[in-house]
Amino acid sequence: MLYIYCPHCGEHRDEQEFHYAGEAYIVRPANPDEATDEAWGDYVFFRDNPKGWTWEQWSHGAGCHKFIAVKRHNVSNEIAATYTMQDGKVAWQQEQQEAQS
Ligand SMILES: [Zn+2]
Repeated sequence: MLYIYCPHCGEHRDEQEFHYAGEAYIVRPANPDEATDEAWGDYVFFRDNPKGWTWEQWSHGAGCHKFIAVKRHNVSNEIAATYTMQDGKVAWQQEQQEAQS
């Protein structure tokens, strides 16, 4: 059972109040008009499936109905942090940059 902190409500709540909404921060093709069918297919249908830390989006369906970003380890179920989608994107981008350097 997960207890998820909702940054909008400011409270930890049972996961049953939330709905998993898939991988967070999927990168949309930069030039939509010029993107190939393969690039659109990757964007729409294919997801990473790493073992370890993942960035997910959840909605607080039984609460504020807002989406939040959750950094969760999908083996241990540990939650490192939860963010508003905007704040999470900043943290996610920083993590991506650190991984590339
Ligand atoms: Zn909430």
